[in-house]
Amino acid sequence: MISREPDAAFVHDRQLMLNKLVDNLKGMVYCNIYDDYWTMLYVSNGSIELTGYTPQQLIRNLTISYEEVIAQDHRAYVRDEIAKAVALKTSFEIEYQIQHANGHTIWVSERGYPIFDVHGQVQAIEGYIQDISDRKNVEDSLKKAEARYRSIFENAIEGIFQSTLDGQYLVANPALAGIYGYESSEELIQALNNIQHQLYVLPTRRDEFVKEIASKGKVQNFQSQIYRKDKSIIWISENARLVYDKHNQPIYYEGTVEDITDLKNHAVEIEYQATHDHLTGLPNRYILNDRLQQSINFAHRYQSMLAVVFVDLDQFKLINDSMGHSVGDQLLVSVSQLISSNVREIDTVVRLGGDEFVILIPNVHSKEDIEHSLSRMLDNLSKPLTINNFNFNITCSMGISVYPNDGNDPDTLLKNADSAMFKAKHAGRNNFQFFTPELNDILTDRFNLEYKLRHAVERDEFILHYQPKYNLSTGDICGAEALIRWQPNDEALIYPLTFIQIAEETGLIVRIGQWVLETACRKAKQLHTITGKHLPIAVNVSPKQFRQPDFVKIVQQTLLQTGLTPSSLELEITENIMIEDMPKFIDTLQQLKQIGVRLSLDDFGTGYSSFSYLKDFPIDQLKIDRSFISAIEQDNANMAILKAIIFLGQSLGLRVVAEGVETQFQHDFLTSVNCDEVQGYYLSKPLPEHTFDSLILSS
Ligand code: C2E
Ligand code: CA
Ligand code: CA
Repeated sequence: MISREPDAAFVHDRQLMLNKLVDNLKGMVYCNIYDDYWTMLYVSNGSIELTGYTPQQLIRNLTISYEEVIAQDHRAYVRDEIAKAVALKTSFEIEYQIQHANGHTIWVSERGYPIFDVHGQVQAIEGYIQDISDRKNVEDSLKKAEARYRSIFENAIEGIFQSTLDGQYLVANPALAGIYGYESSEELIQALNNIQHQLYVLPTRRDEFVKEIASKGKVQNFQSQIYRKDKSIIWISENARLVYDKHNQPIYYEGTVEDITDLKNHAVEIEYQATHDHLTGLPNRYILNDRLQQSINFAHRYQSMLAVVFVDLDQFKLINDSMGHSVGDQLLVSVSQLISSNVREIDTVVRLGGDEFVILIPNVHSKEDIEHSLSRMLDNLSKPLTINNFNFNITCSMGISVYPNDGNDPDTLLKNADSAMFKAKHAGRNNFQFFTPELNDILTDRFNLEYKLRHAVERDEFILHYQPKYNLSTGDICGAEALIRWQPNDEALIYPLTFIQIAEETGLIVRIGQWVLETACRKAKQLHTITGKHLPIAVNVSPKQFRQPDFVKIVQQTLLQTGLTPSSLELEITENIMIEDMPKFIDTLQQLKQIGVRLSLDDFGTGYSSFSYLKDFPIDQLKIDRSFISAIEQDNANMAILKAIIFLGQSLGLRVVAEGVETQFQHDFLTSVNCDEVQGYYLSKPLPEHTFDSLILSS
C-alpha cells in the first residue's frame, strides 16, 4: 500500500472548497489517504449523523480510523473495489455496512474517485458516503416478498399465467403445466404458441375472452373446455385481466386457471337429475315449462300452432296397488318408451309424475294432424304389454289444448289440456278429447262442488231420507232404504246424483258412507226399541267404501256400537264393485254374510248382470233396476223379460224387489207375477225422518 502525504497547500485548498459545498449536505463528504486506515484528511459534518463520530474524531484517525468504522466483513470488499477503481483510474460506487458509534450496523453507499498527482500516483480518495438503510430495507423486504411470491407461483394449485395479446404464453407456473398435461412450464410455453386454436375446444371462446376483457377489464370464472396435451378435454375456469404499460398501452394478459372438470361433471349430473325423471329418464316438468315457453315464442313468431297433450293412464293405480310397485314402475317405463317412439323427433315427452305424461307437439298444421297421430298412439299403446309374464292392457286418456286457440301461456295450455283429459276419462277412457271453453265451466262447477262437499263433510250437512219397501203379498212395510241428502245451510236440498260421483272420485265417500251406515243403524235400532219389531234398513254401499280392506270390521264395529241386530241391516251393493276383483268381491260378501247382515244386489240389469254368476254370490235379494219396471208400459215384450228375471231370481233362492214403481199398472203387474217386494213413488216417496217415523208408528 502506498502511503504518501500530499503537500499541505493542496490539503488546505480542498478543505476550504469542500467545506462550503457540503455544509448542509446529508451524508458525509470525505477526503482520505489511500492507505491501510483510509486516514481521513477531511470529513464533513455529516459524519456525526452517519457514523456517530465527529469529523475531529475521524480526521487523522484521532479516535477511530474509517477502516475500523467499516463493518469487519465488508472491509476486504471495500478495499478491493476501490483498488480496481484506482487501477482503472475511474470512479467507483459501492455499498457496504458500517458500524455506527451507537453499535448499530447500517448500510451505506459510497461514491468516490481517486485523485492522482502529475506522476499518475494516487494522492487521495474523495467521495461521498450516504446512509441507504431505508432503501436497503425496502429492497430486502422486496426480495423477501419476491421469494414469497415465487414460492406461491411455483407451488400454487391454481395455474398462473401471463400471455401475449396474440395468444402465446409468456409465463406459466408448474400447476398450469400440470393442468394442461405438460411436464414443465417450459414445455407448455414451447408447445403452445397459438392458444386460440391449440387450446380452446371452441376457438370462438378465445374471442369471447378477449372481448370480455376488452369491455370489462377482466374476466371472472370464465369457463371453457380445453384440450390437454394428450388431446383429452377438460373444463377450466379462468380469472384474468389485461396489464397495461405506463403509456396505457395493453401489453399482456395475466391470470389464473382452475381445473373444474369434476365440478362441471357433477353440475351436469345434478342438472340432469333436477330436470329428468329418475324412473323413465324423460324430461320433467321443469324442462316442460321451458320448452313450452320456447315453442310458444316460436309459434308466435311464425304464426304456427302447437299442441299440448295431457296423457293419463287408465286404471294405473289399480295395477300399481294390486301388482306391486315394481310392476307399476316397469309399466311406466314401457309406456314412456311407447309414447316416445310414437312421436316425432321435435316433440317433447315429459313425465309429470305418477302416471301423468305431457306431450308437446310443436308446429302442427291442423286438428286432423293431431287426431291422426294420437289415434295411432292410442292403438299402439293399447296393445298388450308383458311384464313379469303378465299381460297388461294399458289404455290412456288424453286431453289436448292448442296454441293459440286454447291459451297463450304454458300454465293455461297445461290446465286446459288437463281439463280435456278429465273429459276423456268421463267419456269412457281410451280416447282423446280436445279442450273446449265450455269444459272449463263444467270443471269450475265441479271444483266448486268438490270444495263445498269437503266443507259439508266437516260440518255434517247430510241427512237421511227413508223410502219404505212393501211386501206385495201382505201389503205391509217390510223395510226401508236409507237415501242420503245434502242440506247446505239455507240452501235447497241436494240429491245424491249431484254429488255421489264426486264423493266417490275424491274418496270423500268413505267418510260420508260411514256416517250413513252409523245413522241408519241407529235409526233401525231406535225403531226396534220403539216398535219392538225388526224393520231392516237398507244402506247403499259405494265401490270405494266396499273395497276398504277393513270394511267387514267396520260394519261389525258399527253394529256393535249401535247395538243393532245384524239381520236388521241390509247392504245394497252394485255389480260394478266386482268388476276388478271377483274372488275378493265374493270373499267380502261371504264375510259379511257370516256376520249376519242381509245383502242385496242393487240396480240389477244395468251392469254385467248375468244369471250365470249370480249363483256364486251369497246374497239375499235382487233389486231390479227401475228401467225394467218403466219399460213394461212401452212394450209387451218387456213384460215377458221382467217376468223372466223375477222367475229366475227366485229360482236362485233370492227375494226379488222391484224399485221405481210409479204406477198402479206396474204395481199390479208385479203382484201378478209374484214379485216379492216393491219400492217406489206409487206407494211412497223417500221420506224425511220424522214423516217416516210417523208412518211406521201408525202402521
Ligand atoms: P238407488 O240406490 O237406485 O236409489 C233409488 C233411487 O231411486 C233414489 O234416488 C230414489 O229416490 C229413487 N226412486 C225411488 N222410487 C222412485 C220412483 O218411483 N221413481 C223414480 N224416478 N225414482 C225413484 P236418490 O235418492 O236420488 O238416490 C240416487 C242414487 O244415489 C241411489 O240410487 C244410490 O245409488 C245413490 N245413493 C243414495 N244414497 C246413498 C248413500 O247413502 N250412499 C251411497 N253410496 N249412494 C247413495
Ligand atoms: Ca239403492
Ligand atoms: Ca237401485
